Amino acid sequence: MPNPVSIQRRGLLLVLSSPSGAGKTTLSKRLLGTDAEIELSVSATTRPMRPGEIDGKDYHFTDLEKFEAMDEEGLFLESATVFGNKYGTPKEAVFNTLEEGRDILFDIDWQGKQQLDERAGGDVVSVFILPPSRDTLEDRLRRRKQDSDDVIAKRMEQADEEIGHYAEYDYVILNDDIDKADTQLRAILQAERLKRRRQTGLREFVDHVISPRD
Ligand code: 5GP
Repeated sequence: MPNPVSIQRRGLLLVLSSPSGAGKTTLSKRLLGTDAEIELSVSATTRPMRPGEIDGKDYHFTDLEKFEAMDEEGLFLESATVFGNKYGTPKEAVFNTLEEGRDILFDIDWQGKQQLDERAGGDVVSVFILPPSRDTLEDRLRRRKQDSDDVIAKRMEQADEEIGHYAEYDYVILNDDIDKADTQLRAILQAERLKRRRQTGLREFVDHVISPRD
């Protein structure tokens, strides 16, 4: 007879941070494209859309006035100013997903991660992606051809600040090989999903597995 009880699990909040150009977007896209149990938290931002980005998919692009109104209404789980633009995580989508027992991926900076820690504590799993070297980081920023020299110089300064927070994260992945980094990220996620405290119904399940005692 099959076990009449099934094991469920609580969803977790997987936070990925890194300086721009460390491969975080590639890693998140790979994970989201192949793992049906996790979805992306789509942030609102006041920064202009870049070529190739889709409103509602990459970000909810919005103006400052609307962003501030949403913030005042308490619609954000966290928000921060990064590189002169505002970014915020819409609250509702996060809780809906977690309640379904699914995970959410957050591509947010260290400030957002700190706020999530305060608000969702034990359900947050944080991973910092490190680039192999300063030169690689700069090369990757240049190859994207999205930004001017000025902007690249500022992004490098911002990278120093972001990297300065690596020690606040649960895990650190060195992205010197995208396939290796991808495998490592999935291993972290699998292990975190299997944490006993994230699984519900275990006791009832086990009660049907062990032999009855008097
Ligand atoms: P970009 O403009 O290059 O897409 O993102 C710039 C930085 O803002 C990245 O480090 C990204 O992780 C961060 N970011 C994106 N969305 C959010 C958000 O909702 N909250 C916070 N705190 N950071 C975000």
